[in-house]
Amino acid sequence: MLPTEATIYKQYLKTAAPNLQKAKGDPWKVEFDTLLKYGSFLLDGWGTLYSETSVYPGVLESMAQLRKANKNVRLLTNAASRSIDQIQSDLHLMGLDFDKHEIISSGSLLKVLNEEVGLKEVYYLGGPSGMQFLEDAKIEAVQNPSEPTVILSGINPTQEEMDKAIEILSEKDARILVLNPDVYAPSPSGEKIPVTGYIANMLKEKTNCQLLFCGKPFSLIFQIALRSLIPSTESVIMIGDTLGTDIAGASIAGIDSALVLGRNVREEEFRSDIYELGVSPNYILNGF
Ligand SMILES: [Mg+2]
Repeated sequence: MLPTEATIYKQYLKTAAPNLQKAKGDPWKVEFDTLLKYGSFLLDGWGTLYSETSVYPGVLESMAQLRKANKNVRLLTNAASRSIDQIQSDLHLMGLDFDKHEIISSGSLLKVLNEEVGLKEVYYLGGPSGMQFLEDAKIEAVQNPSEPTVILSGINPTQEEMDKAIEILSEKDARILVLNPDVYAPSPSGEKIPVTGYIANMLKEKTNCQLLFCGKPFSLIFQIALRSLIPSTESVIMIGDTLGTDIAGASIAGIDSALVLGRNVREEEFRSDIYELGVSPNYILNGF
């Protein structure tokens, strides 16, 4: 794990679950078939099923197995700068078919979250189709919000957008609502690229603003996913590639988890990463 990753993910754990017990014991290395004993599957997207537009080997076959066995399936994704419609059609092009109710993105939680936070105007850093979440939450994206608040969900802000965000976040009581807490994501070639959680941390270091998060590992997305499975809430497993979001979030939510190696966590580093963060999956998968 890169030092920045460890620092930021530890901070998430401290905020989301200060009393979480440190993991003990070693996870089991298993084949995907072993997990078919579970009834419900929460699946991470990027780094687990696909990277950008390419599906990892074996994913389509494993998905077909889940469908054939009538399992409950939910895509639990921190991808927040694309609307659910957009995510559904992007997945379809890759051969992954999910019903709309099976896609739970951190962006789609903004409406629920805003009932508490009460944002009206923000400066928005994210993709155009993610604007849908702001509209649903009755939040207006403006150049100069009346309260200094930025919503961050995209991974490619321009320098001009970053400068504007820094100007807003340098005001008193400024805050960023981060709709995708992921720090790094694996590119199709396998190298790690810094994403939204990394950008948020950079903005905080420059401005000392407050950070608010929505998405894995924070509990709201898991609560909504588990609620959507009622009455089948026993025997749920989260499968993901990121220790600090997918696996930490599952541990906080009290459900089992499996970590896919070779994407965000390297085979030779998984033990030291688990030790570093103090969270462990129940299972290790070497792919699908
Ligand atoms: Mg991932």
